[in-house]
Amino acid sequence: MNHSISKEIVSVAQRTGRGIAIEELDGIRDRVRLRRDQRGTLSSWPFHQLGQHLAYKARRAAVPFLVVDPAFTSQRCPRCGHTGRANRPTREQFRCRRCGLAGPADVVAGVNVRNRARSAWAFATMPVPSPAKAGDERCDP
Ligand SMILES: [Zn+2]
Repeated sequence: MNHSISKEIVSVAQRTGRGIAIEELDGIRDRVRLRRDQRGTLSSWPFHQLGQHLAYKARRAAVPFLVVDPAFTSQRCPRCGHTGRANRPTREQFRCRRCGLAGPADVVAGVNVRNRARSAWAFATMPVPSPAKAGDERCDP
């Protein structure tokens, strides 16, 4: 199943000229205090395997693939930045206590992952100023 899911995700990314971002899974148990129902999903071997399939298939297809810091992606408001446990009244819902932004919790967390990946990508692909070479200032007649 992970083969076909990852194949489909990479295929859509390639076709639409997008990249793929996932949350770093190895760190998630250390940095984020998860409820019992989340621990099982995120630390499970199938979920880890899905990440590995995605990484491999994305690289093979030359699709950008990023792993981002998972801290507070489910509690942070992507509009105003307010972060808090209270932004998640239920497991399925997100509702920002400061600005009122509301939506399905999975979608909001996904937006946070996307935003982190965009920042990381912009930084990673920033053009490096090339050092002036010896002949650059020469005036050719
Ligand atoms: Zn907000």
